[in-house]
Amino acid sequence: MKRRTGQDRSVTSNWRPATQAVRGGTARSEWGETSEALFLTSGYAYDCAADAAARFAGEQQGMTYSRLQNPTVEMLEQRIALLEGAEAARCMATGMAAMTAVLLCQLSQGDHLVAGRAAFGSCRWLTDTLLPRFGIETTIVDGRDPDAWKAAIRPNTKLFFFETPANPTLDIVDLEAVCAIAKAAGLKTVVDNAFATPLLQRPMDYGADIVAYSATKMMDGQGRVLAGAVVGSEEFIENTLLSFIRNTGPTLSAFNAWVVLKGLETLDLRIRRQSENALAVARFLEGRVPRLLYPGLESHPQHELAMKQMSAGGTILSLYLDGGREQAHALLDALELVDISNNIGDSRSLMTHPCSTTHSGLSPEVRAEMGVEEGMLRLNVGLEDSQDLIEDFDRALRKIGL
Ligand SMILES: *Cc1c(COP(=O)(O)O)cnc(C)c1O
Repeated sequence: MKRRTGQDRSVTSNWRPATQAVRGGTARSEWGETSEALFLTSGYAYDCAADAAARFAGEQQGMTYSRLQNPTVEMLEQRIALLEGAEAARCMATGMAAMTAVLLCQLSQGDHLVAGRAAFGSCRWLTDTLLPRFGIETTIVDGRDPDAWKAAIRPNTKLFFFETPANPTLDIVDLEAVCAIAKAAGLKTVVDNAFATPLLQRPMDYGADIVAYSATKMMDGQGRVLAGAVVGSEEFIENTLLSFIRNTGPTLSAFNAWVVLKGLETLDLRIRRQSENALAVARFLEGRVPRLLYPGLESHPQHELAMKQMSAGGTILSLYLDGGREQAHALLDALELVDISNNIGDSRSLMTHPCSTTHSGLSPEVRAEMGVEEGMLRLNVGLEDSQDLIEDFDRALRKIGL
């Protein structure tokens, strides 16, 4: 009898997420390897010319070219789809390749998109700069307010696009309310779920149609490779997304897919421990800095909503100092354990000053609209002992007189 490896969806879809993260989508080769095989191949050979023709005609199962299919990438796609509780997924080279593809494959000249104001800097560039160049209109709303989403709908609106929690202000969008507004108006909702991952939050359970990821962040989780993914219905992935990515080529390399497969094996453990650490660090910092935002803390203005949608607060917190950029940079420079780095989702604690790094490409007006202030810092809490992190912050804060 064939052992169950993670390919039979009637079995694997019943597994709990931690099991899917380790085994979902695994396709063993004839060698029976335990760890997923890495298929570094750009092409595939056929037994005869008729087989090649049949495969191109879609009459025969099998792969034709690694821009379209690769066994290692496919294992990752199936694993991510299972974790999301979705029918299908496609991986891409980076999170931004995924965001670009998911928007451009659905929008045409004359269409209108509504997007949340707090967003990853490059996502704002897509909505504010790239899409308008192709005659696609964008309205930016305060994502926290469901009425604002409703009021922004026009006859030509096609999509709602947002992050929750959002980068870097940790705004929470009410998934159930906003997805219901979209459904009632016949629109699709695309959620960038990089901060929470499917282990903490599954937007499709609340009515989202499509979920997009930077897998660079928590999914790899160890700061090694860039990757992205788009998750949705079989119909959407096959009929709308696939021809776009087949012909534009934002393909994920097999090696990077393999690294992310290894990352997913520990995602459940990492995100829970990092969320515990983030809560401990947030509790310590709350009394020491003028303002701090962490969805897992009671003081977050949308704490209750966050905890309804997410099973933990996540790894990211933002804090605000009164002394502007000078004081924010001084705190960064005073830290010894926490690295100055703009990445997130890493197992190392990393802190950045969004105004002068991740969000420096945006105009001061857009930054102000998003709540990205000069005194703001964003912290990704890693897997270190939380007491060592607290001691590093305690010492650094003392050094800058706080
Ligand atoms: C990092 C990030 C992206 C972009 O992902 P890359 O893998 O860096 O291209 C998009 N959205 C959010 C919320 C992110 O944090």
